[in-house]
Amino acid sequence: MKAYRLFEWKQPARLVDIPVPEPEAGQVRLKVAGNGICASDLHLMHEWDKSPSHIKVELPMTIGHEVGGWVDKLGQGVSGFETGQPVIVTIAGCGHCRYCAMGMNQYCLNKGKQVGMGLDGGIAEYVNAPVGAVVPVSDIHPADAAPFTDAGLSSYHAVKRVAPLLTGGTTVAVIGVGGLGHLAVQELKAITPAKVIAYDLNDASLELAKESGADVCLKSADENIEKMSVEAVLDFVGAGATIAQAAKMIRPLGHIVAVGRGPGIFEFKHNAMPYGAMISTTFGGTKAELMELIGLAEAGYIKPHITKFGIDEVDKAYQLLAQGKIQGRGVIIP
Ligand SMILES: [Zn+2]
Ligand SMILES: [Zn+2]
Repeated sequence: MKAYRLFEWKQPARLVDIPVPEPEAGQVRLKVAGNGICASDLHLMHEWDKSPSHIKVELPMTIGHEVGGWVDKLGQGVSGFETGQPVIVTIAGCGHCRYCAMGMNQYCLNKGKQVGMGLDGGIAEYVNAPVGAVVPVSDIHPADAAPFTDAGLSSYHAVKRVAPLLTGGTTVAVIGVGGLGHLAVQELKAITPAKVIAYDLNDASLELAKESGADVCLKSADENIEKMSVEAVLDFVGAGATIAQAAKMIRPLGHIVAVGRGPGIFEFKHNAMPYGAMISTTFGGTKAELMELIGLAEAGYIKPHITKFGIDEVDKAYQLLAQGKIQGRGVIIP
């Protein structure tokens, strides 16, 4: 089968032919329908010269952590899924630490290897996933549902964190309307009554923000940032400028979620933000939130903007992603 594999750190990944993998005990083999491409794949392929301690990647490894497909074969001890069933893959936790017990599987203290981050990923014709990470979908094609597992879920987890602040008459800012940001706009409109202001530098992204339901779309520029004007900010960029803009916009008791992993630095001190305002980091989302999100999508509230590429176009797709030229999410179809 075809698979897009990384053989050496800081060397380009290559599309190669490898045997179809057998599912191990506790795993489900999927026939891949589609795999979304993510900026964190670019970090993995181009920036790191060894695996960071938190994810334990050994090479060679197939790239791709945003997978949708059909159940193809069950490993030993796995039940509850049927061959041909459409599913997507999320982050598996150990199931027994305090975070897993709270349902916060993505913050698991014993988080082992994940699909596309330690285990072979989904830019391939088949992929094995731990059964605890497999989530059924019904009314959405699994290639179209793939972006929900990361772009959708990471944004939804941030939206849910600030949603209690976003009652009637409030305002929320979304900075950066890419793969995650355009879904955040839709998620905010689906579950809160807040006015949504979207910021981006790029006209096409602001157009996507408008299509996604943003009430106001503005260029990210200091003159468009009103002091103490919003109850929450979701920053999908994480640059120095965007964090400074977020800190300027936030109201007392407001909440900034720094989702994007840009290199920006925030100097935390008294008077850096109004009283009671807070800023937090975030990672992924819970399995229950992914199920909620799929429910919202199946009810028609959320529709990812997807650009599809064949697996033979995978190098080109990552180049376009690196250049910021993919609107919404790119998905590789094997
Ligand atoms: Zn990702
Ligand atoms: Zn755990």
